[in-house]
Amino acid sequence: MPWFKRVEKGINTPTEEKKETPDGLWFKCPECKTVTSMAEHRKNLNTCVKCNHHDRIGSKEYFAILFDDNKFTEMDEDMTSGDPLHFVDSKPYPERTVATQRKTGLKDAVRTAYGKSGGIDITIACMDFAYIGGSMGSVVGEKIARAIDHARKNRTPFLMISKSGGARMMEAGFSLMQMAKTSAKLALLSEEKLPYISLLTDPTTGGVTASYAMLGDFNIAEPGALIGFAGPRVIKETIGKDLPKGFQSAEFVLEHGFLDFIVNRKELKQRLNDLLGMLATAKPEDEAAAKAKKSVKTS
Ligand SMILES: [Zn+2]
Repeated sequence: MPWFKRVEKGINTPTEEKKETPDGLWFKCPECKTVTSMAEHRKNLNTCVKCNHHDRIGSKEYFAILFDDNKFTEMDEDMTSGDPLHFVDSKPYPERTVATQRKTGLKDAVRTAYGKSGGIDITIACMDFAYIGGSMGSVVGEKIARAIDHARKNRTPFLMISKSGGARMMEAGFSLMQMAKTSAKLALLSEEKLPYISLLTDPTTGGVTASYAMLGDFNIAEPGALIGFAGPRVIKETIGKDLPKGFQSAEFVLEHGFLDFIVNRKELKQRLNDLLGMLATAKPEDEAAAKAKKSVKTS
């Protein structure tokens, strides 16, 4: 009998003995197509080793990068959205909520927490694009508002990490109200002279850009992030003209004066700590000056 002849027909390996190909072992950069191992990619904080493309990450990763030893206290963890409009698209909104929560392990599109970063007390709100495109609904607005209240009460700086497709369609008008609510809270934060740093990551668009994302004392962004209000296609159709190269990229937005600086993810924590350190050292003098003013007034 020739050695190459199959004696038994069919494949007889039982399912439990089959070897699975491990999932997600490699990362291929969507920009330059460089392939790295997932472990290496993660070590590089999900940025490409070759072209510095910043891959999208969520609140879990940002908290791990920014909070010292990944230690933080999360606020309003279990807040979830209702269905005030009884909204139905391809499926009812409550069903979508449950399915998305199950798929992502998140309760809504933002997580808020406080802790220390570089030894400095800080309150951070970070959006998750994985949850219905990082859309801003009532929960997002409310959690951000409460995080700002926490920052005011405890006199910590506030960092907002935005990543959003805009307002949440399923909550329509209720979503739009969040723009006013968060902006009003930020005004109170500003009145108390507490720093607000807004980090815009890929993508930051719609109602988020039109409210809290652009209201920072410092508006900073990750390289290559898409930042804009309406999408390029809509703008092109409206004005009937071709858009300039690199339109709505972080670099373009910086050049046109809407950003203070662009920061690489690997330098994010250090830059943030340096900035907050500078602002903190500037504070005691101001307080002393304010006190002196007050005493002059009262005397
Ligand atoms: Zn690359």
